[in-house]
Amino acid sequence: MATLINELCCNCGACEFVCPGDGIHRDGAIFVIDPARCTECVGFHAKQRCSFVCPIDDCCVPDPERVESEEVLFERASKQAAAAGREPLILTEKTSHFRVGTSRSWWERILPGQRDATAQPDNLESRGEELS
Ligand code: SF4
Ligand code: SF4
Repeated sequence: MATLINELCCNCGACEFVCPGDGIHRDGAIFVIDPARCTECVGFHAKQRCSFVCPIDDCCVPDPERVESEEVLFERASKQAAAAGREPLILTEKTSHFRVGTSRSWWERILPGQRDATAQPDNLESRGEELS
């Protein structure tokens, strides 16, 4: 539940249907993320899909009030997948931004130091732009 949409949102709707947790909905002039549904796309994609598709830089950003570990996020994602009848999720560099270097940079750029304790080694730095 650590991603939020800020006031830069232009209400384009591009993020709504790419969220694997069905956690994004219109709320008046902007879209909002339900923090109870957001998994930071852990278990599903290598990057946060809402941030990836959003046409506005720094509109879908980490919520400083909701910093969570990969373990917690993956547990939530696994429950969502099971409820939807999907195959069990796995954690790889293609399904968790914790395992790619550029995602760590995404966090550190906006919230310096917040993710140091849970960040993964940087040996996968070059694979961060993959969209899985
Ligand atoms: S980070 Fe992923 S799970 Fe969270 S709101 Fe964005 S698309 Fe949905
Ligand atoms: S993609 Fe970005 S600008 Fe468009 S609705 Fe979602 S948060 Fe707002």
